[in-house]
Amino acid sequence: MDRLYPDFSVTEESFDREHLAALLGGSSDTDLFSVANKALGENMGMGVYLRGLVELSNVCRKNCLYCGLRRSNPSVRRYTMPFDEVTAVIRYGYSRGLRSFVIQSGELPDREHIDLVERILTWTNAELGDVRMVLSMGELPRQVLDRLKKAGAHRYLLRIESSSHDFYSRFHPSNDLHSYRDRLNTLAILRETGWQTGTGVLIGLPGQTVQQLADDLLFMKKMDIDMCGMGPYLSHRDTPLWKERETVLPAERRVDLSLRMIALLRVMIPSSNIAATTALQTLDPQGLEKGLSAGANVVMPNLTPEAYRKDYNLYQGKVIVDDSLDSLLERLSVQCNAIGRKVMMGNPGDPQHFVRRMNTPDPECEVIGND
Ligand code: SF4
Repeated sequence: MDRLYPDFSVTEESFDREHLAALLGGSSDTDLFSVANKALGENMGMGVYLRGLVELSNVCRKNCLYCGLRRSNPSVRRYTMPFDEVTAVIRYGYSRGLRSFVIQSGELPDREHIDLVERILTWTNAELGDVRMVLSMGELPRQVLDRLKKAGAHRYLLRIESSSHDFYSRFHPSNDLHSYRDRLNTLAILRETGWQTGTGVLIGLPGQTVQQLADDLLFMKKMDIDMCGMGPYLSHRDTPLWKERETVLPAERRVDLSLRMIALLRVMIPSSNIAATTALQTLDPQGLEKGLSAGANVVMPNLTPEAYRKDYNLYQGKVIVDDSLDSLLERLSVQCNAIGRKVMMGNPGDPQHFVRRMNTPDPECEVIGND
C-alpha cells in the first residue's frame, strides 16, 4: 500500500476514525504541519487568498444555543446594511485588489433580505465582473439558491457545526427550524448544483471528543467539499451555553485542536481552500500565522463598517481591528511574508478541488450523518 506522503504515517486508506483521533489527541509536534504544508504546496501553492468579509445583517430567525446573534438574545442591536453601503465597501475592496467577497448574515429567507442580496450580486456582476462572491447566510430553499447563483454568486459556506446528529441536537433547539437533516440536504444541494461548496465545524464544544472531531473530518472528506471554515468554539455570555463555560477546554488546547484539524483536512482534501478563521485569531494572537502554517490558505479581512462591526458578535471577544483597509492589507502582507507566504492580490483563488470536480464525472456524494 502506497503512502500518501512517504514521511508521514497517514495513508489514504488509514484515514480511519481511531487513527485520526489519535493524531488529534497527540501532543504538539511539527511533523503533521510540515506534511500538511507539503500537501498545500503541491496542490494549491503557498499563496494566501483574501476574501473581503461584509457582515450584511445580524438579524437571524434561528436560536442556536452557542450563538450571540440568536433570535432570543434581546441585547443585540439588530441591523441590516443598506445596499449603497455594501456596494461602497465592495467597490473600495476591489480598488485595493480584493477579488472575492463574502456576504454573511443570519438566516433570514424573507423576500426583502433575499431581494437585497440578489441586488448586491447583480450589481457586483455588472460593475466589477471578475470577482467571486461567497454567501454565508444559512439554509435557503433550492429555488432561492438557484436565484442567487443566477444573480452572480459562486460559493456558499454552510457550516454543519458537527457531523454527529446527536451532538448537533445538543446545541440546537429541537424543532423543525433547526433540523439537522435539512442542513445536510442543503449542503448536498449546494454541491450538486454547481456551487463551490464549503462547510466547517466548531472545535472544542463542551463534551466534544476527538473521536467526534475525527468523524467531522471524515464527513468533510466524504462530502468532498471545496472549502472549509472551522475554528475554535468561543462562548458568549448571552447564550444558553454560557452556563457550561467552565467545562470548555483551555484556550491553548482548543487552538491546538483547531490547528490539527486544519492540517489533517489539508492532507485529506489537499486541493481545497481552508480558512484561518477569525475565531482562531481571537483565541491566539498568533492565530493567523499558526493557521496558515498548519495548512490554511485563506484569510478574510473584515470590510464591515465600524458602525456595524461591533454588533456582529457570534461569540465573546471577537477581534475587532480598526485599521483602514490599506493598513490591514499591509499588515496581512507582512504577517504572511514573515512565515514565507505571499498574499495573492488580484486573484479570486478558486479551489483547485472545485475545478477538478467540475472537469470529472461526479462521484456519488451521499448525504451522510452519524445518526
Ligand atoms: S449560528 Fe447562524 S443560524 Fe445560528 S443563531 Fe447564529 S447566526 Fe443564526
